[in-house]
Amino acid sequence: MSTPPRILVSSCLLGHPVRYHGRAAPFEAGAAILERWRAAGLIVPICPEVAGGLPTPRPPAEIARAAGGDAVWQQLARVVDDTGADVTAAFLDGARQALALAQRHGIRIAVLKEDSPSCGSASIYDGTFTGRKVAGDGVAAAWLRRHGIEVFSEHTLADADARLRAIGSIGSIESPR
Ligand code: SF4
Repeated sequence: MSTPPRILVSSCLLGHPVRYHGRAAPFEAGAAILERWRAAGLIVPICPEVAGGLPTPRPPAEIARAAGGDAVWQQLARVVDDTGADVTAAFLDGARQALALAQRHGIRIAVLKEDSPSCGSASIYDGTFTGRKVAGDGVAAAWLRRHGIEVFSEHTLADADARLRAIGSIGSIESPR
């Protein structure tokens, strides 16, 4: 019997206290889906920023000049923390590690924390540290997408679940009643 394909999930969404301020980002609305995936052994957790060598807690960082992850990969934008330190290298390294982990597990779908400069998939902060958001994705999300992995967020968990079913990942797993 073949092992069902797995799904990459941001560690902070799973309750791991790895965010910049040392806390997690549990998402109650998606708890049932996450728990079902967890019980089925489908989840592979990752925190790209920690994987890239950044400490927890750490200063918050944003992609400068309202740019997105692709611009960082093209060396058109940098990731800078609120002390002014350039943390681009750590973000790139963490994203590469996230992709390597996904590829080791044959992963085709990721659910990553929205609004993060690493994990955001539809929305990120604009680089001014004023709380303003812009449409775009983070460094890890962009890298995963560039390599063919579909990226969802905690706000689109149900879509990710449907996509998993569509590609046959959890065809043998019971749906919740
Ligand atoms: Fe969560 Fe991603 Fe930020 Fe890590 S890098 S704390 S997984 S949003």
